Amino acid sequence: PLILGIETSCDETGVGLVRGCTLLSDEVASSVGEHARFGGVVPEVASRAHLEAMTPTVRRAVDAPARVPDGLAKRLRDVDAIAVTAGPGLAGALLVGISAAKAYALALDVPLYGVNHLVGHVAVDQLEHGPLPKPCIALLVSGGHTSLLYVGDLATDVRLLGDTVDDAAGEAYDKVARLLGLPYPGGPPIDRAAREGDPATIHFPRGKLGDGSLDFSFSGLKTAVARWVEDGERDGRAPAVPDIAAAFQESVVDVLTRKAVDACVQHGVGHLVISGGVAANSRLRELAGQRCAEAGVELRVPSPRLCTDNGAMIAALGSEVVAAGLPPSPLDLAVDTSLPVESPLA
Ligand code: ATP
Ligand code: MG
Ligand code: FE
Repeated sequence: PLILGIETSCDETGVGLVRGCTLLSDEVASSVGEHARFGGVVPEVASRAHLEAMTPTVRRAVDAPARVPDGLAKRLRDVDAIAVTAGPGLAGALLVGISAAKAYALALDVPLYGVNHLVGHVAVDQLEHGPLPKPCIALLVSGGHTSLLYVGDLATDVRLLGDTVDDAAGEAYDKVARLLGLPYPGGPPIDRAAREGDPATIHFPRGKLGDGSLDFSFSGLKTAVARWVEDGERDGRAPAVPDIAAAFQESVVDVLTRKAVDACVQHGVGHLVISGGVAANSRLRELAGQRCAEAGVELRVPSPRLCTDNGAMIAALGSEVVAAGLPPSPLDLAVDTSLPVESPLA
């Protein structure tokens, strides 16, 4: 079946078309630039931007003939089911996507599936690397979440093994970027600055939370960076942005990769997938590759473009949910701003 996926949980309006594990189109309109001067997403601004971008983005996704192989969907009426992000995310933003999805489902007379944004981040890997091995461990690292998951089946069996006790990894990148005077969102500029720096010049703490723990903590690290910058200002030193960025990043990716491999070992699972916006990070990808190779774990990471929010990831999860024969969502489907990751279908 041909699945149209709609994503509006934060500041990206994403629309994707997927058949099984085949990606047919993926269109994203982002309001990120409108939020930059506020240093974070402004919910009302995001909702308004989704409203304006929705119809043109759907049209672009459906009309992307160059990327649609012959014989596959060329029209909205060929769509067999609609998948939409039901949560977690911003209430007003989610509402725009859900309302549009309901309207398309009703007009096309096809089933509607309200799915989980976080599980979508994991599912998107299938569009590049084929079906995920069952089971696999997933490290989900995004703007709002940092979790380790046991994925027995994307549609029916997702278990939470570990979670952040304070900030998410992406949130730490965004906050530290602000401390260093780098633009929002902070992940990409820190990633770039770190390449010019030496991580060994400063040792920032690692949030370990005890032997064998699969939970994460990043607020102590953020405070350590803040203190370093303040001490420098007091002593009249300009902050060495590349070195601080590199040392901060090394602390984050050291803990992420160590615990991800630990989760594989603890659960006897030989496959790891890393996903979510922070999975676009070049040092995380590099170190995860090294540590997985040492531990004999097979690693899969989607291309950076598919790591951040998009509609294809929602369509990819929709495909799984349809294939598993799960019941469609009712047309009075509500947003769930804190939908737990263990519920792939809302
Ligand atoms: P969630 O998925 O938890 O609801 P979100 O959808 O806002 O949150 P994503 O779009 O998945 O999050 O990811 C955005 C985050 O990824 C931001 O915090 C951003 O700084 C971070 N990020 C993007 N690129 C990079 C990079 N190269 N290195 C580190 N972090 C990055
Ligand atoms: Mg975003
Ligand atoms: Fe996301």
